[in-house]
Amino acid sequence: MSPTGIPTAGHVGDHAADPLVAELASSCRGPVTGQASLAGMTTLRVGGTARVLVTAESDEDLVAVGRAAAAYEVPHAIVGRGSNLLVSDDGWPGIAVHLGRGYRGLEIEDRRVHAGAAEPLPTLAVKVADAGLTGFAWACAVPGTLGGAVRMNAGAHGSEMRDHLVTVELVRLASGTRETWPLEALGLTYRHSDLPTDAVVVGASLVFEPGDAATVREEIASIRRWRREHQPLNEPNCGSVFTNPSGDSAGRLIDAAGGKAMAVGGAKVSERHANFIVTRPGATATDVATLIRRIQQRVAETAGVDLIAEVVHLGRFETAGDASW
Ligand SMILES: Cc1cc2nc3c(=O)[nH]c(=O)nc-3n(C[C@H](O)[C@H](O)[C@H](O)COP(=O)(O)OP(=O)(O)OC[C@H]3O[C@@H](n4cnc5c(N)ncnc54)[C@H](O)[C@@H]3O)c2cc1C
Repeated sequence: MSPTGIPTAGHVGDHAADPLVAELASSCRGPVTGQASLAGMTTLRVGGTARVLVTAESDEDLVAVGRAAAAYEVPHAIVGRGSNLLVSDDGWPGIAVHLGRGYRGLEIEDRRVHAGAAEPLPTLAVKVADAGLTGFAWACAVPGTLGGAVRMNAGAHGSEMRDHLVTVELVRLASGTRETWPLEALGLTYRHSDLPTDAVVVGASLVFEPGDAATVREEIASIRRWRREHQPLNEPNCGSVFTNPSGDSAGRLIDAAGGKAMAVGGAKVSERHANFIVTRPGATATDVATLIRRIQQRVAETAGVDLIAEVVHLGRFETAGDASW
């Protein structure tokens, strides 16, 4: 395993006795691990295992995942950088798919950028700036992958993915086909896309306006400074836990409700930003899910607003009242 918790070599875990793991190991080029811990693959650093983790290096690997998921009747989920993901302590009985180096890389031609979905957004933001293109500095502070950013329609500082996307390349796990979808088909709204659950984003084309590289780099430095001052970047977190309700800010509502004093076990509302939950050593996913639920209750009681979790839950969460697989 690498320090990020992501398998680095053609490695089959100790659970090859699981026929699903054995089948995927024989049909995929990328590493396949049975009972793989996902905690280290998320920025919250809590949670349990997936029945199997596949690091897909090619479309053939994704097709194999789709085939195995259908044959064994198990769900699948894509894990990007795990920067918006809360995995249940009880684990998850499906195939977790991580896109490997085969899905990195980018090409820039005039104002058009084409990048692989595993490309980290902060790296992409810097490369776009270096190419003398403007408008993507905001992405320097969103620690996800391009694929996760498309799925979530990530955004910050007044911009979002849909401002730049032209087309998205998908591999459909149900049919094993590669498709190119135009922006209009993605149904991107605030932190949401209408992408089907079997759609894996494998690449995207984006377009930007020409600008001055030095100015954009200064903008990036200033955004990073602002984030360090206002967000708890030295503690495990998942960014904003809740979406902002129309015309208000979730952080303001939580703060006004006295939320900054709230904690459950090793999970705590950040003193620096009330819409962030940070985890301390020993924290569990149940702590985080329970704290999310309590914050929702507190804000509903004090302000009459139902906060909606932005962080994606994977697995069963009794306490969060959100038993999704
Ligand atoms: C410190 C910090 C700051 C943050 N700031 C912001 C911010 O300013 N704005 C913002 O919008 N978000 C922010 N986030 C949240 C997060 O970084 C974004 O939502 C990001 O887009 C998630 O990308 P990811 O690769 O980590 O996806 P994951 O967390 O791994 O997954 C999130 C969802 O996307 C799906 N997914 C991931 N990859 C793919 C793919 N290739 N194809 C299809 N589905 C996929 C997953 O299945 C899951 O449903 C922040 C997080 C942190 C930790």
